[in-house]
Amino acid sequence: MKELPEGADPMDIRYNVVNWVDRAGNPRAFSYGSSYIDPRTGEIIKGVVTLGSDRHRQDYLLAEGLLQPYKPGQPVPTAMATMALARVRQLSAHEIGHTLGLYHNFTSSTKDRGSVMDYPFPRFSLKADGTVDVSQAYATGIGSWDKRAILWGYQDFPKGTDEAAGLEKIMKETLAQGHIFIPDIGGYVHPTANQWDEGTNAVTQLNTLMNVRRHVLDNFSTNAIPAGAPMATLEEVLVPMYLLHRYQVEAAAKSLGGLYFTHAVKGDGQVITRMVAPAEQWRAFDALMATVTPTALALPEALIKQIPPRPSGFPSSMETFSGHTGPTFDPIAAAETAAALTIASVLNPERAARLVEYHARDAQQPGFLPVVDKMLAQTWKAPLPAGYKGELQVLVNNLTLKSLLQLAAAPDAAESVRGESLLEVAGLKQWMTAHLAAAPPRHKASLLFGLAQIRKFEDDPNKFVPNPGVDTPPGPPSACPAWISWATT
Ligand SMILES: [Zn+2]
Repeated sequence: MKELPEGADPMDIRYNVVNWVDRAGNPRAFSYGSSYIDPRTGEIIKGVVTLGSDRHRQDYLLAEGLLQPYKPGQPVPTAMATMALARVRQLSAHEIGHTLGLYHNFTSSTKDRGSVMDYPFPRFSLKADGTVDVSQAYATGIGSWDKRAILWGYQDFPKGTDEAAGLEKIMKETLAQGHIFIPDIGGYVHPTANQWDEGTNAVTQLNTLMNVRRHVLDNFSTNAIPAGAPMATLEEVLVPMYLLHRYQVEAAAKSLGGLYFTHAVKGDGQVITRMVAPAEQWRAFDALMATVTPTALALPEALIKQIPPRPSGFPSSMETFSGHTGPTFDPIAAAETAAALTIASVLNPERAARLVEYHARDAQQPGFLPVVDKMLAQTWKAPLPAGYKGELQVLVNNLTLKSLLQLAAAPDAAESVRGESLLEVAGLKQWMTAHLAAAPPRHKASLLFGLAQIRKFEDDPNKFVPNPGVDTPPGPPSACPAWISWATT
């Protein structure tokens, strides 16, 4: 890559360009890779990449949270800058990949970081001394899938070669090497087609990530911010740590009611569709529900005490948590942000419809009713802990009921799903009513609120609108859309 010659216009068709763009205002802007194409031949004649200069920020925040780097009397380590730059390097390759005509391949992260055209989540691990290693955060160079895709798209065959046969041979070899191409995450269905996931199995990785997250939260300290920074800015670094698992939740949820598939063509030998094995679906369910236990959602009391209301000049932003407590940091609302992602993933209407369908086709498949039964057993019907963890449990109970009522009321959900949701709500109502009289005050209050929600729903299911939840801060490493512009020349 070279600097553009003095006086050259970035629009000049003779130059392929990477524009480095500072955008004011939106700290989560996309980067793009696009091409100008001769419509007569399909030939790409110019590539244009736009890289948002603020992309560093999210990785820098992630690294600050993971490394807790600002130790008194010690120099600031260079690992944060190294990690942020590694991401920009990877992103540059990704966008240039788009200019060359490559689509995303969201399964490639499960094949040893097989493509720069995936959305990568940083790879890190806990070291024996309790610190986090981010030295392998992002892959260097292009991946094995990229090499195959370019080989297929750009091979110059010697004169006289049967080109169709040559391409067919490349394709056969690519498939034989175990590459799968899933260019989008459509329908949140495919267990390995995920954005910002890591590792070969999304469920296993969710469990691993939750352990690292717990360790980081338990050790989160003022070392997360530089000397002299307002204490309130601990929250900006805390947000990506608290939500460290958000994309892995989305990824693991795809195993529940999930379908492996390929975009097979006739005769290519790829596995066309295959339901996820029942045991793996339950393993996904367990991993997901482990993200909404009071223990998983709780922050250390010592940390909560360290976050004061925002000072002048440092207002709340899209990068901080919303809350119900006025200007003070609200740890229950922070938990709502995280737990709502999981509950919504499990009770997604399309997932529910597939659970019903797959169970109808194969009795070994989990089915929707057993999934909800188990959810309710682990939420509403579980013993209510005391104190802060009890409040977190009440929060998750309410989120579960809200999502269930929403499913029962959703006009676009499958009617079988709506019916089974109604059955679960009716059963829960009965259970709540039976336990009301003997419940101690905190539990009774929660049961009364749940019953009131159910009554509100029963009054007119078609008009049922649950209370809106708190806003979720935007995700850590922001996206680049599949953006290929087909310009005419
Ligand atoms: Zn992209």
